[in-house]
Amino acid sequence: MCEFCHKHGEGKKWYLRAGNYSEDLLSDVRRRKYIERFLFEPERLRADLEKLEKLDRAPALIREAITWALSNRQKRFHYGQVVPIEDLERILGFVNTVVRLPCICRKVTLGKERRYCYGLSISPGGGEFSRILGDVERSYLKGPDTSGFETLSKEEALEALREHEREGLCHTIWTFHTPFIGGVCNCDRSDCIAMKATVTHEFPVMFRGEYVAKIEPENCNGCRQCMKVCQFGAISHSGAEKRSVVDARRCYGCGICRAACSKEAIVLLDRTSVSAASNLW
Ligand code: SF4
Ligand code: SF4
Repeated sequence: MCEFCHKHGEGKKWYLRAGNYSEDLLSDVRRRKYIERFLFEPERLRADLEKLEKLDRAPALIREAITWALSNRQKRFHYGQVVPIEDLERILGFVNTVVRLPCICRKVTLGKERRYCYGLSISPGGGEFSRILGDVERSYLKGPDTSGFETLSKEEALEALREHEREGLCHTIWTFHTPFIGGVCNCDRSDCIAMKATVTHEFPVMFRGEYVAKIEPENCNGCRQCMKVCQFGAISHSGAEKRSVVDARRCYGCGICRAACSKEAIVLLDRTSVSAASNLW
């Protein structure tokens, strides 16, 4: 159970707690301003990425101290966690609305609008994320496609998320002013700044998932499809045994390898039940 589960989930998975999606939280002026700045100012994200690259070159002690301080600050505002598809399905079961919107990371890294992010909201009266952020919608989208946020049914959203999984993208869930949960993204190390920060620069801005993958050796034929899609380098292949194995210490529990395995040889275990990984977040 990650730190947020203790703090914002009342001892359960924090991202399954419906109150964390409430639009009451979004109507808080500070939170709303934070989201507006996040969406309006991609140049700030670009500058942050450049700072991370500079930080890599700093002496180890300075780098560790700055990373610790800034990562903890990040937890108060915009922090994420890897989430497998079954938990996303549970989340979609209780939210009121889902909208698909352009990914700010890809706007920065590719210079293009790519719709990989999903805003989620819930309120007693039936929430509507796109209505509340209507001003942002009009101002943010400057590209050729000006149709704004797309409202999806829950079924459409789940199918879109499954399609991202088939593309090899890792699902992540994000706070916008913790504990308000703004949405879900679908990430890879090439285009996602959060994954670059966490995995490449060792500057954590998201937790590992609540799970760890395990390959059942008797079902594995050693085809290595799982290795190709793992964004975290957590799978290796034994030439002698002709099968693949998961390094639990590197695994983020995204389940993307499972989606790629035609032999159904991969299962996700509760992280707390895997001693090698139970304290790694
Ligand atoms: S994709 Fe499945 S069958 Fe292929 S190596 Fe990985 S676990 Fe084994
Ligand atoms: S081994 Fe599987 S579950 Fe673990 S990080 Fe890699 S793709 Fe995700």
